[in-house]
Amino acid sequence: MIGRIFGAALALASGLGLAHTATAQDLRPDQVRFRELYKELVETNTSLSVGSCTVAAAKMGAHLKAAGFTDAQLIYFSTPDHPKEGGLVAILPGTSKTAKPILLLGHLDVVEAKRADWTRDPFTFIEENGIFYGRGTSDMKVIDATWVDMLVRFKEQKYAPKRTLKLALTCGEETLAAFNGADWLAKNKRDLIDAEFALNEGGGGRADKDGQVQSQGVQVGEKVVQQFRLETTNPGGHSSVPIRDNAIYELSQALLKVRDYEFPLAMNDTTRSFFAKAGVGRSDPTGLAMIAIAKDPNDKAAEAELNKDRGFHSMLRTTCVATLLDGGHAENALPQRAGANINCRMFPGSTMEDTKAKLEAAISDPGVKVIPLQPIRSKPNPPPLDPKVIGPMERVAAKYFPGAPLVPTMSTGASDAIYLAPVGIPTYGVPGFWSGPEGSGAHGLNEHQSAKSVFVGRDYLTELVKTYAEAG
Ligand SMILES: [Zn+2]
Repeated sequence: MIGRIFGAALALASGLGLAHTATAQDLRPDQVRFRELYKELVETNTSLSVGSCTVAAAKMGAHLKAAGFTDAQLIYFSTPDHPKEGGLVAILPGTSKTAKPILLLGHLDVVEAKRADWTRDPFTFIEENGIFYGRGTSDMKVIDATWVDMLVRFKEQKYAPKRTLKLALTCGEETLAAFNGADWLAKNKRDLIDAEFALNEGGGGRADKDGQVQSQGVQVGEKVVQQFRLETTNPGGHSSVPIRDNAIYELSQALLKVRDYEFPLAMNDTTRSFFAKAGVGRSDPTGLAMIAIAKDPNDKAAEAELNKDRGFHSMLRTTCVATLLDGGHAENALPQRAGANINCRMFPGSTMEDTKAKLEAAISDPGVKVIPLQPIRSKPNPPPLDPKVIGPMERVAAKYFPGAPLVPTMSTGASDAIYLAPVGIPTYGVPGFWSGPEGSGAHGLNEHQSAKSVFVGRDYLTELVKTYAEAG
Protein backbone atom coordinates (compact mmCIF):
# COMPACT_ATOMS: atom_id res chain seq x y z
CA MET A 1 0.00 0.00 0.00
CA ILE A 2 0.97 3.61 -0.27
CA GLY A 3 1.82 5.38 2.95
CA ARG A 4 1.00 2.69 5.41
CA ILE A 5 0.47 3.82 8.95
CA PHE A 6 -0.79 1.85 11.84
CA GLY A 7 -1.86 3.66 14.98
CA ALA A 8 1.35 4.70 16.63
CA ALA A 9 2.42 3.76 20.10
CA LEU A 10 -0.22 1.21 20.97
CA ALA A 11 0.44 0.02 24.46
CA LEU A 12 -2.07 -2.73 24.78
CA ALA A 13 -2.67 -5.76 26.93
CA SER A 14 0.21 -8.17 26.76
CA GLY A 15 0.29 -10.56 23.85
CA LEU A 16 0.85 -14.23 23.50
CA GLY A 17 3.65 -16.73 23.36
CA LEU A 18 3.66 -18.55 20.07
CA ALA A 19 5.67 -21.61 20.87
CA HIS A 20 6.20 -22.40 17.22
CA THR A 21 9.42 -21.18 15.71
CA ALA A 22 9.62 -21.90 12.05
CA THR A 23 12.92 -23.44 11.16
CA ALA A 24 13.16 -25.35 7.92
CA GLN A 25 13.22 -28.75 9.58
CA ASP A 26 9.98 -28.42 11.53
CA LEU A 27 7.78 -27.02 8.78
CA ARG A 28 4.69 -29.00 7.86
CA PRO A 29 4.64 -30.29 4.26
CA ASP A 30 2.01 -27.68 3.33
CA GLN A 31 4.24 -24.98 4.79
CA VAL A 32 7.22 -26.17 2.76
CA ARG A 33 5.07 -25.89 -0.37
CA PHE A 34 3.83 -22.48 0.63
CA ARG A 35 7.36 -21.25 1.22
CA GLU A 36 8.23 -22.29 -2.36
CA LEU A 37 5.23 -20.42 -3.79
CA TYR A 38 6.01 -17.29 -1.75
CA LYS A 39 9.68 -17.50 -2.82
CA GLU A 40 8.70 -17.85 -6.48
CA LEU A 41 6.47 -14.79 -6.27
CA VAL A 42 9.06 -12.64 -4.45
CA GLU A 43 11.73 -13.67 -6.97
CA THR A 44 9.48 -12.69 -9.87
CA ASN A 45 10.37 -9.02 -10.25
CA THR A 46 7.15 -7.01 -10.54
CA SER A 47 8.57 -3.51 -10.23
CA LEU A 48 7.26 -1.16 -12.91
CA SER A 49 10.67 -0.42 -14.47
CA VAL A 50 11.94 -3.89 -15.35
CA GLY A 51 9.47 -6.36 -13.87
CA SER A 52 6.23 -7.90 -15.08
CA CYS A 53 2.98 -8.46 -13.22
CA THR A 54 1.75 -10.34 -16.29
CA VAL A 55 4.48 -12.95 -15.77
CA ALA A 56 3.68 -13.20 -12.05
CA ALA A 57 -0.05 -13.58 -12.80
CA ALA A 58 0.73 -16.38 -15.28
CA LYS A 59 2.87 -18.20 -12.70
CA MET A 60 0.14 -17.97 -10.08
CA GLY A 61 -2.47 -19.03 -12.63
CA ALA A 62 -0.37 -22.09 -13.49
CA HIS A 63 -0.50 -23.25 -9.85
CA LEU A 64 -4.26 -22.80 -9.80
CA LYS A 65 -4.67 -24.67 -13.07
CA ALA A 66 -2.48 -27.53 -11.84
CA ALA A 67 -4.74 -27.76 -8.77
CA GLY A 68 -7.80 -28.21 -10.99
CA PHE A 69 -9.11 -24.74 -11.85
CA THR A 70 -10.55 -24.78 -15.37
CA ASP A 71 -9.58 -22.26 -18.02
CA ALA A 72 -13.02 -20.68 -17.65
CA GLN A 73 -12.31 -20.12 -13.94
CA LEU A 74 -9.04 -18.30 -14.66
CA ILE A 75 -9.54 -14.94 -16.35
CA TYR A 76 -6.39 -13.09 -17.36
CA PHE A 77 -6.62 -9.39 -18.20
CA SER A 78 -4.31 -6.64 -19.39
CA THR A 79 -4.37 -3.64 -21.67
CA PRO A 80 -2.38 -3.38 -24.93
CA ASP A 81 -0.57 -0.19 -23.90
CA HIS A 82 0.62 -1.74 -20.61
CA PRO A 83 1.40 -5.36 -21.59
CA LYS A 84 3.52 -6.07 -18.49
CA GLU A 85 0.89 -4.82 -16.05
CA GLY A 86 -1.65 -7.61 -16.42
CA GLY A 87 -3.55 -9.50 -13.76
CA LEU A 88 -5.72 -12.50 -13.03
CA VAL A 89 -9.15 -13.24 -11.61
CA ALA A 90 -9.77 -16.78 -10.33
CA ILE A 91 -13.16 -18.15 -9.32
CA LEU A 92 -13.86 -21.04 -6.93
CA PRO A 93 -17.63 -21.55 -7.27
CA GLY A 94 -19.74 -21.87 -4.12
CA THR A 95 -22.66 -24.24 -3.56
CA SER A 96 -25.13 -21.64 -2.33
CA LYS A 97 -27.46 -20.01 -4.83
CA THR A 98 -28.16 -17.07 -2.53
CA ALA A 99 -24.99 -16.25 -0.54
CA LYS A 100 -22.91 -13.55 -2.18
CA PRO A 101 -19.26 -14.16 -3.08
CA ILE A 102 -16.19 -12.97 -1.19
CA LEU A 103 -13.38 -11.25 -3.08
CA LEU A 104 -9.72 -11.77 -2.13
CA LEU A 105 -7.74 -8.85 -3.49
CA GLY A 106 -3.99 -8.46 -3.92
CA HIS A 107 -1.64 -6.25 -5.90
CA LEU A 108 1.28 -8.05 -7.52
CA ASP A 109 3.43 -5.00 -8.22
CA VAL A 110 6.16 -3.84 -5.85
CA VAL A 111 7.99 -0.58 -5.23
CA GLU A 112 11.35 -0.23 -7.01
CA ALA A 113 14.33 -1.63 -5.10
CA LYS A 114 17.97 -0.85 -5.86
CA ARG A 115 20.45 -3.68 -5.26
CA ALA A 116 23.20 -1.19 -4.37
CA ASP A 117 21.16 0.23 -1.49
CA TRP A 118 20.05 -3.09 -0.03
CA THR A 119 22.08 -5.38 2.20
CA ARG A 120 20.91 -8.41 0.17
CA ASP A 121 19.60 -8.80 -3.38
CA PRO A 122 16.00 -7.51 -3.19
CA PHE A 123 14.76 -10.02 -5.76
CA THR A 124 16.33 -13.08 -4.14
CA PHE A 125 14.25 -14.65 -1.40
CA ILE A 126 16.61 -15.00 1.54
CA GLU A 127 15.93 -16.53 4.95
CA GLU A 128 18.18 -15.45 7.80
CA ASN A 129 17.58 -16.14 11.48
CA GLY A 130 13.88 -16.80 10.99
CA ILE A 131 13.31 -13.72 8.82
CA PHE A 132 12.40 -13.73 5.12
CA TYR A 133 13.98 -10.87 3.17
CA GLY A 134 13.06 -9.57 -0.28
CA ARG A 135 11.03 -6.87 -2.03
CA GLY A 136 7.35 -7.72 -1.57
CA THR A 137 7.84 -10.10 1.38
CA SER A 138 5.56 -7.72 3.27
CA ASP A 139 3.85 -5.45 0.69
CA MET A 140 2.08 -7.55 -0.36
CA LYS A 141 3.26 -10.84 -1.83
CA VAL A 142 2.82 -12.59 1.50
CA ILE A 143 -0.93 -11.98 1.17
CA ASP A 144 -0.98 -12.73 -2.58
CA ALA A 145 0.78 -16.05 -1.98
CA THR A 146 -1.60 -16.83 0.88
CA TRP A 147 -4.65 -16.26 -1.34
CA VAL A 148 -3.24 -18.42 -4.15
CA ASP A 149 -2.09 -21.20 -1.80
CA MET A 150 -5.48 -21.18 -0.08
CA LEU A 151 -7.39 -21.66 -3.34
CA VAL A 152 -4.93 -24.33 -4.50
CA ARG A 153 -5.45 -26.27 -1.28
CA PHE A 154 -9.23 -25.80 -1.29
CA LYS A 155 -9.37 -27.13 -4.85
CA GLU A 156 -7.08 -30.08 -4.13
CA GLN A 157 -9.09 -30.95 -1.02
CA LYS A 158 -12.25 -30.81 -3.16
CA TYR A 159 -13.56 -28.34 -0.62
CA ALA A 160 -16.86 -26.86 -1.77
CA PRO A 161 -17.45 -23.52 -0.01
CA LYS A 162 -20.99 -22.27 0.40
CA ARG A 163 -20.00 -18.89 -0.94
CA THR A 164 -18.10 -18.39 -4.15
CA LEU A 165 -14.54 -17.29 -3.52
CA LYS A 166 -12.98 -14.90 -5.99
CA LEU A 167 -9.36 -13.88 -6.25
CA ALA A 168 -8.18 -10.75 -8.07
CA LEU A 169 -4.43 -10.31 -8.50
CA THR A 170 -3.77 -6.89 -9.97
CA CYS A 171 -0.98 -4.53 -10.91
CA GLY A 172 -0.39 -0.80 -10.61
CA GLU A 173 -1.20 -0.14 -6.97
CA GLU A 174 2.18 1.36 -6.18
CA THR A 175 2.48 3.72 -9.15
CA LEU A 176 -0.03 6.34 -10.30
CA ALA A 177 1.16 6.13 -13.94
CA ALA A 178 0.62 2.38 -14.17
CA PHE A 179 -2.42 0.45 -15.37
CA ASN A 180 -4.36 -0.08 -12.16
CA GLY A 181 -6.02 -3.49 -12.35
CA ALA A 182 -8.36 -2.92 -9.41
CA ASP A 183 -9.60 0.34 -10.93
CA TRP A 184 -10.00 -1.32 -14.34
CA LEU A 185 -11.90 -4.31 -12.94
CA ALA A 186 -14.21 -2.05 -10.92
CA LYS A 187 -15.00 0.06 -13.99
CA ASN A 188 -15.08 -2.64 -16.69
CA LYS A 189 -15.66 -6.01 -15.04
CA ARG A 190 -17.84 -5.15 -12.07
CA ASP A 191 -19.82 -8.41 -12.44
CA LEU A 192 -16.69 -10.54 -12.53
CA ILE A 193 -15.53 -9.26 -9.13
CA ASP A 194 -18.98 -8.78 -7.63
CA ALA A 195 -18.81 -9.65 -3.93
CA GLU A 196 -20.47 -8.87 -0.63
CA PHE A 197 -17.11 -7.60 0.58
CA ALA A 198 -13.43 -7.79 -0.26
CA LEU A 199 -10.39 -8.68 1.81
CA ASN A 200 -7.25 -6.70 1.07
CA GLU A 201 -3.98 -5.43 2.54
CA GLY A 202 -3.86 -2.58 5.05
CA GLY A 203 -4.51 -4.39 8.32
CA GLY A 204 -2.09 -6.44 10.37
CA GLY A 205 -0.54 -6.74 13.78
CA ARG A 206 2.15 -5.23 15.92
CA ALA A 207 4.58 -7.29 17.93
CA ASP A 208 6.92 -6.11 20.66
CA LYS A 209 10.70 -6.46 20.42
CA ASP A 210 10.45 -10.07 21.62
CA GLY A 211 8.04 -10.97 18.83
CA GLN A 212 4.95 -11.10 21.03
CA VAL A 213 1.87 -9.92 19.15
CA GLN A 214 0.40 -6.98 21.08
CA SER A 215 -2.54 -6.14 18.85
CA GLN A 216 -4.06 -6.93 15.49
CA GLY A 217 -5.64 -4.33 13.24
CA VAL A 218 -8.37 -4.48 10.61
CA GLN A 219 -8.37 -1.59 8.21
CA VAL A 220 -11.86 -0.19 7.77
CA GLY A 221 -11.70 2.78 5.44
CA GLU A 222 -8.91 5.05 4.38
CA LYS A 223 -8.30 8.66 3.52
CA VAL A 224 -8.52 9.84 -0.07
CA VAL A 225 -5.73 11.63 -1.89
CA GLN A 226 -6.63 14.88 -3.68
CA GLN A 227 -4.05 17.22 -5.08
CA PHE A 228 -4.41 20.90 -5.82
CA ARG A 229 -2.17 23.40 -7.56
CA LEU A 230 -2.02 26.84 -6.00
CA GLU A 231 -1.08 29.36 -8.62
CA THR A 232 -0.44 33.09 -8.67
CA THR A 233 0.22 35.23 -11.74
CA ASN A 234 1.56 38.77 -12.15
CA PRO A 235 2.43 41.14 -15.03
CA GLY A 236 6.05 40.96 -13.81
CA GLY A 237 8.69 43.38 -15.05
CA HIS A 238 12.35 44.27 -14.50
CA SER A 239 13.83 43.14 -11.19
CA SER A 240 15.67 46.47 -10.82
CA VAL A 241 12.38 48.23 -10.09
CA PRO A 242 10.50 45.89 -7.74
CA ILE A 243 7.11 46.52 -6.18
CA ARG A 244 5.35 44.70 -3.35
CA ASP A 245 2.88 42.97 -5.70
CA ASN A 246 4.81 39.84 -6.63
CA ALA A 247 3.64 36.35 -7.65
CA ILE A 248 6.17 34.61 -5.39
CA TYR A 249 5.32 36.69 -2.32
CA GLU A 250 1.62 36.24 -2.92
CA LEU A 251 2.01 32.48 -3.23
CA SER A 252 4.24 32.36 -0.16
CA GLN A 253 1.62 34.10 1.94
CA ALA A 254 -1.00 31.66 0.72
CA LEU A 255 1.24 28.72 1.62
CA LEU A 256 1.71 29.98 5.16
CA LYS A 257 -2.06 30.19 5.50
CA VAL A 258 -2.36 26.59 4.32
CA ARG A 259 0.25 25.61 6.93
CA ASP A 260 -1.70 27.35 9.68
CA TYR A 261 -5.12 26.12 8.66
CA GLU A 262 -6.43 23.18 10.67
CA PHE A 263 -9.27 21.26 9.08
CA PRO A 264 -12.13 20.62 11.51
CA LEU A 265 -12.07 17.47 13.59
CA ALA A 266 -13.83 14.51 11.98
CA MET A 267 -14.60 11.07 13.34
CA ASN A 268 -16.42 8.00 12.09
CA ASP A 269 -17.30 4.57 13.49
CA THR A 270 -13.85 3.22 12.68
CA THR A 271 -11.80 5.95 14.31
CA ARG A 272 -14.16 6.15 17.31
CA SER A 273 -13.77 2.41 17.82
CA PHE A 274 -10.02 2.63 17.24
CA PHE A 275 -9.51 5.24 19.96
CA ALA A 276 -11.90 3.48 22.37
CA LYS A 277 -10.08 0.14 22.01
CA ALA A 278 -6.52 1.33 21.61
CA GLY A 279 -6.78 3.53 24.70
CA VAL A 280 -7.86 0.70 26.99
CA GLY A 281 -5.49 0.01 29.87
CA ARG A 282 -3.40 3.13 29.31
CA SER A 283 -2.91 5.74 32.00
CA ASP A 284 -0.59 8.09 30.09
CA PRO A 285 -2.00 11.40 28.78
CA THR A 286 -2.29 10.06 25.21
CA GLY A 287 -4.17 6.93 26.32
CA LEU A 288 -6.56 8.97 28.47
CA ALA A 289 -7.12 11.38 25.56
CA MET A 290 -7.91 8.43 23.26
CA ILE A 291 -10.67 7.24 25.59
CA ALA A 292 -11.93 10.80 26.10
CA ILE A 293 -12.18 11.66 22.40
CA ALA A 294 -14.00 8.40 21.68
CA LYS A 295 -16.62 9.43 24.26
CA ASP A 296 -16.80 13.09 23.27
CA PRO A 297 -15.35 14.40 20.02
CA ASN A 298 -15.84 17.95 21.31
CA ASP A 299 -13.31 17.40 24.10
CA LYS A 300 -10.81 20.08 23.06
CA ALA A 301 -8.19 19.11 25.65
CA ALA A 302 -8.20 15.52 24.40
CA GLU A 303 -7.96 16.69 20.81
CA ALA A 304 -4.99 18.92 21.64
CA GLU A 305 -3.22 16.01 23.34
CA LEU A 306 -3.78 13.66 20.38
CA ASN A 307 -2.69 16.31 17.87
CA LYS A 308 0.81 16.03 19.34
CA ASP A 309 1.07 12.64 17.57
CA ARG A 310 1.31 13.25 13.82
CA GLY A 311 -0.45 9.93 13.05
CA PHE A 312 -3.40 10.67 15.32
CA HIS A 313 -3.53 14.28 14.13
CA SER A 314 -3.96 12.98 10.59
CA MET A 315 -6.52 10.36 11.62
CA LEU A 316 -8.73 13.10 13.08
CA ARG A 317 -9.17 15.31 10.02
CA THR A 318 -8.41 16.12 6.43
CA THR A 319 -4.82 17.34 6.04
CA CYS A 320 -3.25 19.37 3.21
CA VAL A 321 0.44 20.07 2.86
CA ALA A 322 2.69 21.82 0.33
CA THR A 323 4.95 19.28 -1.41
CA LEU A 324 6.30 20.94 -4.60
CA LEU A 325 7.13 24.50 -5.56
CA ASP A 326 7.91 26.40 -8.76
CA GLY A 327 8.04 30.04 -9.74
CA GLY A 328 9.61 32.76 -11.82
CA HIS A 329 11.28 32.55 -15.21
CA ALA A 330 14.57 34.50 -14.92
CA GLU A 331 16.97 35.70 -12.22
CA ASN A 332 16.53 39.32 -13.22
CA ALA A 333 12.77 39.39 -13.82
CA LEU A 334 9.83 39.88 -11.52
CA PRO A 335 7.98 36.55 -11.46
CA GLN A 336 4.99 36.24 -13.78
CA ARG A 337 3.90 32.94 -12.31
CA ALA A 338 4.39 30.86 -9.17
CA GLY A 339 2.86 27.55 -8.23
CA ALA A 340 2.82 24.91 -5.53
CA ASN A 341 1.48 21.40 -5.26
CA ILE A 342 -0.76 20.82 -2.27
CA ASN A 343 -1.18 17.18 -1.31
CA CYS A 344 -4.43 16.63 0.60
CA ARG A 345 -5.52 13.49 2.41
CA MET A 346 -9.25 13.85 2.73
CA PHE A 347 -11.16 12.31 5.61
CA PRO A 348 -13.61 9.68 4.24
CA GLY A 349 -16.82 11.39 3.16
CA SER A 350 -15.09 14.67 2.25
CA THR A 351 -15.13 15.79 -1.37
CA MET A 352 -12.76 17.67 -3.62
CA GLU A 353 -15.29 20.53 -3.67
CA ASP A 354 -15.56 21.02 0.07
CA THR A 355 -11.80 20.66 0.55
CA LYS A 356 -11.21 23.26 -2.16
CA ALA A 357 -13.73 25.62 -0.57
CA LYS A 358 -12.01 25.33 2.82
CA LEU A 359 -8.59 26.00 1.28
CA GLU A 360 -9.92 29.05 -0.59
CA ALA A 361 -11.51 30.39 2.59
CA ALA A 362 -8.29 29.86 4.54
CA ILE A 363 -6.20 31.62 1.87
CA SER A 364 -8.84 34.35 1.35
CA ASP A 365 -7.03 35.88 -1.62
CA PRO A 366 -8.90 35.79 -4.94
CA GLY A 367 -5.54 36.23 -6.68
CA VAL A 368 -4.53 32.71 -5.64
CA LYS A 369 -6.10 30.09 -7.87
CA VAL A 370 -6.84 26.71 -6.22
CA ILE A 371 -6.87 24.25 -9.10
CA PRO A 372 -7.95 20.63 -8.47
CA LEU A 373 -5.65 18.10 -10.16
CA GLN A 374 -6.54 14.69 -11.57
CA PRO A 375 -7.45 12.15 -10.43
CA ILE A 376 -10.59 13.53 -8.83
CA ARG A 377 -12.19 10.57 -7.06
CA SER A 378 -15.85 10.07 -6.42
CA LYS A 379 -16.86 10.31 -2.79
CA PRO A 380 -16.10 6.87 -1.32
CA ASN A 381 -18.49 5.06 0.95
CA PRO A 382 -16.39 4.07 3.95
CA PRO A 383 -16.97 0.38 4.66
CA PRO A 384 -19.23 -0.21 7.64
CA LEU A 385 -18.01 -1.84 10.86
CA ASP A 386 -20.11 -4.82 9.83
CA PRO A 387 -20.34 -7.48 12.56
CA LYS A 388 -20.65 -10.15 9.83
CA VAL A 389 -17.13 -9.21 8.74
CA ILE A 390 -15.52 -8.02 11.98
CA GLY A 391 -17.07 -10.72 14.22
CA PRO A 392 -15.30 -13.69 12.58
CA MET A 393 -12.04 -11.71 12.42
CA GLU A 394 -12.26 -11.17 16.17
CA ARG A 395 -13.24 -14.75 17.00
CA VAL A 396 -10.50 -16.34 14.90
CA ALA A 397 -7.98 -13.77 16.20
CA ALA A 398 -8.83 -14.72 19.79
CA LYS A 399 -7.69 -18.26 18.95
CA TYR A 400 -4.44 -17.33 17.20
CA PHE A 401 -3.54 -14.21 19.17
CA PRO A 402 -5.12 -14.64 22.62
CA GLY A 403 -5.01 -11.45 24.65
CA ALA A 404 -4.22 -9.23 21.67
CA PRO A 405 -7.23 -7.01 20.83
CA LEU A 406 -8.47 -6.57 17.27
CA VAL A 407 -8.49 -2.83 16.63
CA PRO A 408 -10.27 -1.19 13.67
CA THR A 409 -7.98 1.30 11.95
CA MET A 410 -8.48 3.94 9.30
CA SER A 411 -5.45 4.28 7.10
CA THR A 412 -4.09 7.75 6.49
CA GLY A 413 -2.51 6.27 3.34
CA ALA A 414 -4.21 4.83 0.30
CA SER A 415 -4.77 1.36 -1.19
CA ASP A 416 -6.78 -0.23 -3.99
CA ALA A 417 -9.79 -0.30 -1.64
CA ILE A 418 -10.41 3.20 -2.98
CA TYR A 419 -11.57 1.75 -6.31
CA LEU A 420 -13.91 -0.88 -4.90
CA ALA A 421 -15.77 1.33 -2.41
CA PRO A 422 -17.39 3.50 -5.13
CA VAL A 423 -18.78 0.41 -6.90
CA GLY A 424 -20.31 -0.92 -3.70
CA ILE A 425 -17.77 -3.53 -2.60
CA PRO A 426 -16.74 -2.65 0.96
CA THR A 427 -13.10 -3.58 1.39
CA TYR A 428 -11.29 -4.52 4.59
CA GLY A 429 -7.57 -4.74 5.31
CA VAL A 430 -7.03 -8.08 6.97
CA PRO A 431 -5.36 -8.82 10.30
CA GLY A 432 -3.03 -11.80 10.50
CA PHE A 433 0.53 -10.92 9.55
CA TRP A 434 2.47 -8.64 11.85
CA SER A 435 5.69 -6.73 12.19
CA GLY A 436 7.82 -5.66 15.11
CA PRO A 437 8.62 -2.18 16.40
CA GLU A 438 11.15 -1.71 13.56
CA GLY A 439 8.45 -2.17 10.90
CA SER A 440 8.75 -4.29 7.77
CA GLY A 441 10.77 -2.08 5.42
CA ALA A 442 7.80 -1.92 3.04
CA HIS A 443 8.57 0.58 0.24
CA GLY A 444 12.02 1.03 1.82
CA LEU A 445 15.20 -0.95 2.36
CA ASN A 446 15.60 -4.59 3.35
CA GLU A 447 11.88 -5.40 3.35
CA HIS A 448 11.20 -8.45 5.47
CA GLN A 449 8.66 -10.58 7.29
CA SER A 450 9.32 -13.02 10.12
CA ALA A 451 8.74 -16.68 9.30
CA LYS A 452 6.56 -16.95 12.38
CA SER A 453 4.34 -14.14 11.12
CA VAL A 454 4.19 -15.71 7.66
CA PHE A 455 3.12 -19.16 8.81
CA VAL A 456 0.80 -18.14 11.65
CA GLY A 457 -0.74 -15.32 9.58
CA ARG A 458 -1.37 -17.74 6.72
CA ASP A 459 -3.10 -20.23 9.05
CA TYR A 460 -5.16 -17.40 10.53
CA LEU A 461 -6.31 -16.13 7.13
CA THR A 462 -7.08 -19.61 5.84
CA GLU A 463 -9.33 -20.30 8.82
CA LEU A 464 -10.88 -16.83 8.54
CA VAL A 465 -11.79 -17.21 4.86
CA LYS A 466 -13.20 -20.69 5.55
CA THR A 467 -15.34 -19.20 8.32
CA TYR A 468 -16.74 -16.57 5.93
CA ALA A 469 -17.17 -19.13 3.17
CA GLU A 470 -19.36 -21.31 5.39
CA ALA A 471 -21.56 -18.47 6.63
CA GLY A 472 -24.39 -16.96 4.64
ZN1 LIG B 1 0.62 -2.67 -0.92
